[in-house]
This record gives sequence, structure tokens and C-alpha cells, in this order.
Amino acid sequence: MTFVRGLKCRECGRVYPTSSIYVCEFCFGSLEVDYDYAAIKSAISREKIEKGPLSVWRYRPLLPIDGEPTVGLNSGFTPLVRAHNLADALGVKELYIKDDTVCHPTLSFKDRVVAVALSKAREFGFDTVACASTGNLANSVSAHAAKAGFKRFIFIPADLEVAKILGSLVYEPNLVAVKGNYDEVNRLCAEIASKYHWAFVNVNIRPYYAEGSKTFGFEIAEQLGWKTPMHLVSPAASGSLLVKIWKAFKEFEKLGLIGPVKTKMYCAQPAGCSPITTMIQEKSEVLKPVKPKTIAKSLAIGNPADGYYARDVIVESGGAAEVATDEEIIEAIKLLAATEGIFTETAGGVTLASAKRLIQKGVIPRNESIVISITGQGLKTQEAIAHHLGRPHVIEANLASFEERVDFPEKKEVVKK
Ligand SMILES: *Cc1c(COP(=O)(O)O)cnc(C)c1O
Ligand SMILES: [Zn+2]
Repeated sequence: MTFVRGLKCRECGRVYPTSSIYVCEFCFGSLEVDYDYAAIKSAISREKIEKGPLSVWRYRPLLPIDGEPTVGLNSGFTPLVRAHNLADALGVKELYIKDDTVCHPTLSFKDRVVAVALSKAREFGFDTVACASTGNLANSVSAHAAKAGFKRFIFIPADLEVAKILGSLVYEPNLVAVKGNYDEVNRLCAEIASKYHWAFVNVNIRPYYAEGSKTFGFEIAEQLGWKTPMHLVSPAASGSLLVKIWKAFKEFEKLGLIGPVKTKMYCAQPAGCSPITTMIQEKSEVLKPVKPKTIAKSLAIGNPADGYYARDVIVESGGAAEVATDEEIIEAIKLLAATEGIFTETAGGVTLASAKRLIQKGVIPRNESIVISITGQGLKTQEAIAHHLGRPHVIEANLASFEERVDFPEKKEVVKK
């Protein structure tokens, strides 16, 4: 049973049958999945969703596959954490962390998109999958494809973090490290995709892949008790996640699963790679590509594919855009860990630091609900904070050494006795 009518051009609206294409032949606009919402409406309800699997597939009618899902059966449905300690630290009343640092199996929100992309690739009959990645997508395609039995080709910039390279290699993909930045890797992949019959998750099957990001938004709305927050801060690399969270909220609204969406959407980018934020802050009509220079490598896309769509969402929702410097990113990673016990990678540092700026500037009010999107795991980007943390107390294996070298509240009395 499918609710997919086909693909539709996001610019001129021309429709195409379901296949592995991604650009409009007439206007070169990007293609998007076109659903039959009337049919979905009679097939979906809060109760049915609540009885569904604890994964992205609980929203199956709103995902672009025809049959049963075959990949990523445990991906998604991560915690939405009420963050009282962080709320106190930031001086706000109602704060939540959507925590994809624990997404299955590779600890970032990319496991959602890849679950959908590879389920679709299987339906299309591909035996080889591939991607261009800033790191997390590489990990996720490598892992999901290993389990699903696809041949796998993974293209990354050569200068990625150690854990993101190891975290791909362990699944034995063909890992290709390109001497260049992500935008150059992506260009190369578009060329390869046009020549070989592979499912490039973020090139020729991107329309299906991108739909997986909606589940991040669906979950937030469901976990808040079937409503959306007043303010949502999302990181942006290509801009796709932010656009799809908004689409998720609007689909739930359209289907009557939630009331009117009043959420304002905010884009967070690293100061060293902020083409979308810059366009919004300067009220420019043109997105100027940049050469990334930031510790937030997972967000280092200088020419974002969904940049204009992200801008439109932010403007339509009444939100704003912000940046975070490398120092602020590190501070924010430490703040989230120390207050909420959540260890995020650099992208999460960007998002929290940007949220903090928006709150301090009064752009996000202190007395309304806020969701901060934490999209990846800190163990993968240890280089970024390795020299910004304390060190362990090294002692001999005896009590005297412990009492001598470690400070603790009772110590004064122990020493007196
Ligand atoms: C890929 C990625 C993003 C950004 O995703 P886009 O949809 O390209 O904007 C955010 N956070 C993390 C951890 C990522 O890996
Ligand atoms: Zn078109």
C-alpha cells in the first residue's frame, strides 16, 4: 500500500512517476515526493501511530516507500528530554532537547534518512548504494548497508575526524577520501551518479532520503503531547533537516493530528560556514557560497542544496538565523554535558550556542516553549574538545595516595584525624 503519487518539481510543479531521478527536466528544480493526503488522512490517526513500532516507521504512511520497510527497523524514536537544568542556566522556562545522540545504529539523525533511502533503494532494485558525506552520513550508510547486504561506496572529504573515518571503515565499505571539501566531493558524486547505476542516497534518491528527516519533527510533535513548540532551533548544513521538520509539522496540521502550527523556526550555523544565516541576516535574495573553516565539520557545506528553501521556512514561520564561533561551540558542548548529561558533537554545540545567542538577544522569548535539536554524538568529534577539558587525577592504588592527591569535601576532617 503506497500513498505516493510520484515526484513533483519544487519550482514548476511538474509531476513525474516514482523513479530514481532528482531534477526537473524542464526547469532544473529539485524534485520532491508527492503524496495523496486525502488517502493518508483516512489511514492515519494518533492512536494508530501510538500503537506503531518505536522507530521512524511508526509514521510509515508519511514516508515514501511502497511496501514494508526493510532497512533501519530500529532507527529513530529518540528521547525528547525536558531540560530543567539547562533551562535554569539559560534563564528560560520550558526547554526540551531532542536527543539524536542516541539514534540507532550510528548515533546521529542521519540514521533516519538512511533507513528511508535504503528501504527505497531496495524497492528500486539497486544492489549498490553510495553517498557524499560530511561524516555522519558516511557512518550511517556504511552501517545500514552492511546489515542490509548492499555493496557500498562512501565518499568523504579526506580531513574528517578520526572517529568518523573509523566509524565508517569498521563496516567495510569502499571508503573514498577525496582531497577536497564537501562541495567538491558532492560535485564528483553527481558525476559518478550520472555514469553508474548506483543509489546515491543524497544525489539520485535524495527526494526519498530527505523525507526521512520529517520523522525528527513528527516525533517532537508526538512527544510534546500532539503539539509543536513555540520555538525550534535546528542546525543547517544543506538546510534539508530544517525544511523537513517544518514540513512534518505542516503535514500533521493538514491531517488534523495537531492544531495550528505557530512554531517559529531558527537556523543555527557555524560562523566559519554560514551561507544560509548570512543570507537571512543580510536580507539578501542571493545565497553566496562560502569556503568552510570551522570545527563543526558535519555542518561544513559551503553551497547548501536547500539553502533557499530553508530561508523561506524561516521567513514564513517568523523565525531567525544565528551563528556560533568555534569557542562558543566548545563552551556549548560542555554546558550541555554538565547540565543535562548529554554529550553532543560539534553540530549540537552550534545549535545550543546559537540558541543561547537568540535568547540573550531577546529574539527567542524566555517564557515560551523551546526545542533545541541535538543531532549527533560527542564521542565522534573528540578532537574539538580534547584540549578544553580537565584531566584525570592520577594516583597510586592506595588510600594514602587518594587522600593526598584528590580534593574532596570531607578531606579536611580526614587529615585532622
Ligand atoms: C548532516 C547533519 C546535519 C545537517 O543536516 P542538513 O539536513 O544537511 O542540513 C546536522 N547535524 C548533524 C550531526 C549532521 O550530521
Ligand atoms: Zn520544474
